[in-house]
Amino acid sequence: MSELRAFFYDGRSAARRAVTVAFSDSGLMTVRELGTSSRYRLNQLNIQPRISGQPAVVQLPGNARLEVDDAAAFFDAVQSRSGKRQWQYSLESRWYFIAATLLLTVAFGWSVYAIGVPALAKQVAYRLPRDIDLILTQQGLQVMDRTVFAPSTLNPERRQRIRAAMEEVTRVVGGDGYYSLQFRSGKNLGANAYAFPSGTIIFTDDLVRLATSTDELRVIMAHEVGHVRNRHTVRNLLQNSLFAGLIVVISGDVAAVGSLAAAIPKVLVEASYSREFEYAADAVAREYLQATGKPNAIFVSIMSRIAEQSAARPDELSLLRTHPAVEERIRAFLD
Ligand SMILES: [Zn+2]
Repeated sequence: MSELRAFFYDGRSAARRAVTVAFSDSGLMTVRELGTSSRYRLNQLNIQPRISGQPAVVQLPGNARLEVDDAAAFFDAVQSRSGKRQWQYSLESRWYFIAATLLLTVAFGWSVYAIGVPALAKQVAYRLPRDIDLILTQQGLQVMDRTVFAPSTLNPERRQRIRAAMEEVTRVVGGDGYYSLQFRSGKNLGANAYAFPSGTIIFTDDLVRLATSTDELRVIMAHEVGHVRNRHTVRNLLQNSLFAGLIVVISGDVAAVGSLAAAIPKVLVEASYSREFEYAADAVAREYLQATGKPNAIFVSIMSRIAEQSAARPDELSLLRTHPAVEERIRAFLD
C-alpha cells in the first residue's frame, strides 16, 4: 500500500518531524524519516479513538506520538490488518483492562479473606494469654449451660470412669493435667463433643450412650485434644470476630473478652470446623491408637455410628454437623 504522511513527536520536545507511515502485510507498521525507519507491531500501538475530521493519533512505545493526517486511510489500514474495526479494537482492550482490574480486586479481597484472616487468627490464637482462655471457657460454658445444655443424667460412677479414661489418653498424647472432661445433657445436640479454649471438653450424654466401648470414647477424647492443642475453637472464634480478638491482644483489655466469649456458642454449635481442622484433630486420634497399639477400626466404628445417628435424626446438631465429611475422614484416617 502507499505511504501515509504523518507527524512524529518524540515525547521529549515539542518539535514535530515529518515522517511517512506504511503497513506491511505481516502486520508491522513502519515509520520512515529521511533515511531511517522504525517498525512497530500493531499490538505495541495505543491507537486513540477516532474523532471525525481530526488526524489519527497513535501513542508509540517510549512516550512518542504519531499524528496521521489521512485518518480514514490509516484506520482502514489498521482494520484490514487486525481484522477488527478500530472502535472494537479500543473498546475491547478497555474491557480487558476493566475485567483484569476487577479480577485482581476480587482475587485480592478473596485472598485477604481466605488466607489473610485465618492466618492472622492463627497468629493471634497462639498469643492469647492463658487467663483469656479461661475467661472465654468459663463465660462461653455459662451461656451454653443457659441455652443448649442441661445437667448430665449419667450416673456419677460412670462419669468418673470416663474421666479416668481421659487421663489415660492425655498421658499418651500429651497435656496431662491440662484437660478436664465434663458431661452435659445436650437437649437436641445429639451425640456431640465440644472443645473449649482452656482445655475443657464437654461430652454429651448421647455421645456416651452411643459408644459401645470406652476405647471409642478415648478416640473422641484424643480427637478433641487435637482441636484444643491446635487452638481450633479460638481460631474459629477469632475468624468470626477478629477485631475483638485484636483488641484483647493489643490492649490486654479483659472487658473486651466478653464480646469474644459471647460468640463461643455460635462457633461451637452452629459453625463447623474446616476439613483442615478435622484432619489435624483426627491425626491426634490416630496418634493415640498407634501409640497404644489399638486398631484403627475403633475410630471407624464410632465415627460411622455417629454418622448413622446423625442421618437418622437430621434435626439434631450432631457431632458430624459440626465435624463434617466423615467418609472422607475415615478414608484419610486409614491411608
Ligand atoms: Zn472434630
